[in-house]
Amino acid sequence: MPEPKQYLNFIAGQFVASSRTFENRAPADDRLLGQVHEAGAAEVDAAVAAARGAMAGEWGRMTVARRVELLHAVADEIDRRFDDFLAAEIADTGKPASVASHIDIPRGAANFKVFADVVKNVPSESFEMATPDGGKALNYAVRKPVGVIAVICPWNLPLLLMTWKVGPALACGNAVVVKPSEETPATATLLGEVMNKVGIPAGVYNVVHGFGPGSAGELLTRHPGVDAITFTGETRTGEAIMQAAAKGVRPVSLELGGKNAAIVFADCDFDKAVTGVTRSVFENCGQVCLGTERVYVERPIFERFVQALKARAESLKIGPPEEKGVALGPLISHEHRAKVLSYYEKARAEGATVVTGGGTPRMPGALAEGAWIQPTIWTGLPESSAVIREEIFGPCCHIAPFDSEDEVIALANDTPYGLATSIWTENLGRAHRMAGAVDVGICWVNAWFLRDLRTPFGGSKASGIGREGGVHSLEFYTELRNVCIKF
Ligand code: NAD
Repeated sequence: MPEPKQYLNFIAGQFVASSRTFENRAPADDRLLGQVHEAGAAEVDAAVAAARGAMAGEWGRMTVARRVELLHAVADEIDRRFDDFLAAEIADTGKPASVASHIDIPRGAANFKVFADVVKNVPSESFEMATPDGGKALNYAVRKPVGVIAVICPWNLPLLLMTWKVGPALACGNAVVVKPSEETPATATLLGEVMNKVGIPAGVYNVVHGFGPGSAGELLTRHPGVDAITFTGETRTGEAIMQAAAKGVRPVSLELGGKNAAIVFADCDFDKAVTGVTRSVFENCGQVCLGTERVYVERPIFERFVQALKARAESLKIGPPEEKGVALGPLISHEHRAKVLSYYEKARAEGATVVTGGGTPRMPGALAEGAWIQPTIWTGLPESSAVIREEIFGPCCHIAPFDSEDEVIALANDTPYGLATSIWTENLGRAHRMAGAVDVGICWVNAWFLRDLRTPFGGSKASGIGREGGVHSLEFYTELRNVCIKF
């Protein structure tokens, strides 16, 4: 068993201890992974000052070409240390190594290359105009970095979602202070080593550890030295962060919760739809913001679909990250499991038919201490049920029948959230009609979680503010300045 680690803050290129620590435990078996050094006001001040210092120094003057080169080097170094990142991520999250090695780590590295290339190639606009005195003026737009960006991250895809923000922020020439989730401190810390190794100047990338309210998260988002805040997490936390950002009128980018619907028409390719919905409900043990918790199935195939999804759910192998063939890891923590299980209880109390699951699995040996849970499917609940209205963030869904396009559009849109949906149909006209009618930021047809990083990503309604991805990230991470020259 490896020695417990010390997860230090990373400030101005140095690993910095603090006087308060808290435990980091593995969700698979509750073993102690190490002690996390919680940043207080002094550490957060130092990190913000380091970032401001970097903007005023070599980093602020660096050519785009050199920045691009360095960010490619960051991605290459993550790839070189792939096994370290993989081990850190699966220890913190308990997710299957097969998933983390295909999604979390490679996409985490790719985020640096993708955004470096966007910045290298992005054009800017210019307009020539006539002036009243018979002369002319030329307007042209230039993009400048915003300054110091606070990056507040969740625990479900720690490296991937952190670099999804740090990549474009640095590509645009900003400096960052990252606050990883208290549940998953490891990969953000490891990235500090990578930054030093490849020669990213000190202070460009900083990490402060801790919690939200009354801790590093709140200290950072309220810090007057922060110019903009980008956040991924729960909608309620997004509201608190938006309030913090109001002081000083600082911009926010918010990627928040969802209560996403999958809509399955009788004219779908049945096997494709069952496979797709199995993934969208159960991937990452249901802890994906884009995941499905409400499934609507057209009545003629309703019973057959429920039985097919049940069979798939029951065939998912539950187990520890390294075990072969494992599809389902634990939830992130016992605390989160208690929340998800409270919805399993509510479903029962509200009269749901439990098609499968509904409890916790019996796990062998040390795994018995982990935050394991059964994949669960319900039918028969009214749309007013808490289980259908509130984000659960677990491996579970409710399946309801529908009879017409209009009915299912109304059902899908009857939620405060508007993040993602997936529609399963082989009818092209219907696919276009439905895609236009469901109020979400991201709509898939016959797919789920298929991401081209150049496309806009974000939620509507209570699922967020702003779009990131490709050139859209530039809207947040740069200040667009117009220069008007009269001649
Ligand atoms: P969370 O909101 O509890 O925490 C996210 C981060 O915010 C953590 O680092 C936490 O310490 C910090 N935080 C909490 N309160 C804070 C405060 N008052 N001020 C500053 N920082 C604070 O979210 P989570 O439980 O880590 O992640 C799960 C949630 O994230 C789900 O709701 C999920 O839908 C959402 N999510 C959304 C997306 C998206 O792209 N829209 C992606 C992934 C996850």
